[in-house]
Amino acid sequence: MAFGWIDEQAAARRRAGLVRTLRPRPADSPLLDLASNDYLGLARHPEVVAGAEAAARTWGGGATGSRLVTGTTELHGELERELADFCGFEAALVFSSGYAANLAAVTALAPHGSLIVSDAGNHASLIDGCRLARGTTQVVAHADPDAVGKALGTHEGPAVAVSDTVFSVDGDAAPLAGLAEACREHGAGLVVDDAHGLGVLGAGGRGAPHAAGLAGADDVVVTVTLSKSLGSQGGAVLGPARVVEHLVNAARTFIFDTGLAPAAAGAALAALRLLGNEPERATRAREVATALHARLTAAGLEAVRPDAAVVSVRAPSPEEAVQWAADCRAAGLLVGCFRPPSVPDGISRLRLTARADLSEEQIERAVRVIGGTRP
Ligand code: PMP
Repeated sequence: MAFGWIDEQAAARRRAGLVRTLRPRPADSPLLDLASNDYLGLARHPEVVAGAEAAARTWGGGATGSRLVTGTTELHGELERELADFCGFEAALVFSSGYAANLAAVTALAPHGSLIVSDAGNHASLIDGCRLARGTTQVVAHADPDAVGKALGTHEGPAVAVSDTVFSVDGDAAPLAGLAEACREHGAGLVVDDAHGLGVLGAGGRGAPHAAGLAGADDVVVTVTLSKSLGSQGGAVLGPARVVEHLVNAARTFIFDTGLAPAAAGAALAALRLLGNEPERATRAREVATALHARLTAAGLEAVRPDAAVVSVRAPSPEEAVQWAADCRAAGLLVGCFRPPSVPDGISRLRLTARADLSEEQIERAVRVIGGTRP
C-alpha cells in the first residue's frame, strides 16, 4: 500500500512514547510561558502589533510575489537598512524565515569544490544548508576552533566555517573570536547563525558577532531570525554588500520564495526600533537567565550555565523528559522539551527560555514547579 511504511514508523514512535502532537496555544493562556523564544517580551508589545497592522493596511496581507518580482516594498528596504546598521554590517537581506536565510547563506557561499566546516551542534537549518550546498561538508567537534582550523588546513579552494553563535539546545555560546581567527588563518569565510544572540547578546542586543568584535568584518556573514527577540517572523542575512548582492542573484530560497509578509516586516521593524530605544531589555533577558540558572542549581537540578537566554535542564530519559514537561504544564508552567531525534547527542532536557519581562516572583514560581515535578 502506498505510504504503508508511514504506519510502521508511527507504531514505532508510539511504542517509544515519542509521538509529537500539535496543541493550539490559547490567546489568553493562564500558563507561565518559559517555552517561547519571545526573549524580550515584544511579540505582543502594542508598538510591534501596531507596526504589523500599519504594514498590512498599507501593503496588504501578503508580499504578492517573490522579492525580485513584486515582493519588495519600501518597508523591506527600510528593515534591511536598519537591521544592517543596528548590528554593524554593511548590508542585509530579509527572507521569509531564518530557516530560508540559513539555507541561502550556506548554499550560496559554498560552491562546487568548496569545503564547509560545520559544528556538530549546529541547528537543523544550517545542517540542511550543508546538505543542499554543492560543496563538501566536514562536521567537526562542538565549539572547537582548533578542529575547524585543522579541517580548513586540509583543503585548497573556497571554504567556509559554519556555526550557531548560541546553540539552541544547551544555550552555550560558540567561541566566535577563535573561529574567526582559524578562518582567517586559512583564508576561509565564517557564517554564523545569531538566531539566539540578536536582542540578547552584545551592546544593547546587537548580537554575538558584535560582542566578539566581528561586526562589519568583510569575511563574516551573519544570519538572524526575526521570530525570537524581535517577536515577529522572518529572517535575514547580514554581511558585506557584495555577499548580499551575490545572494540576491544566487540564493534559491531568496529568488524562488515569496517575499516576507509586510505585517511581519512591519512588526520586526517596530521591535528593532524599540530595542534601539530600550537597550536594557537585552541586559534584563541575560539577568533573568542567570537568575533562573542559579535557582535551578540551588534546587539541585542539573542546568547548563547559560551564555544567552536559553537555559537547559537535564532529564534522565526521553520518556521522563516528556512526562516532566507535561507535569509542569499541569502545574501551570509551559516549558520546552528536547529529546531524540531532535537532539543528536541523545540527551533529553527541558528547555527554558528567559524573558526580559519575567518578574522575580515568576522566576521563583517556575523553579518551584520544575523542582516539584522532577522525575
Ligand atoms: N537557527 C536557529 C539556531 C534556530 O533556533 C531557529 C529557529 N528554531 C532557526 C535558525 C530558524 O529560524 P526561523 O524560525 O525564523 O525559520
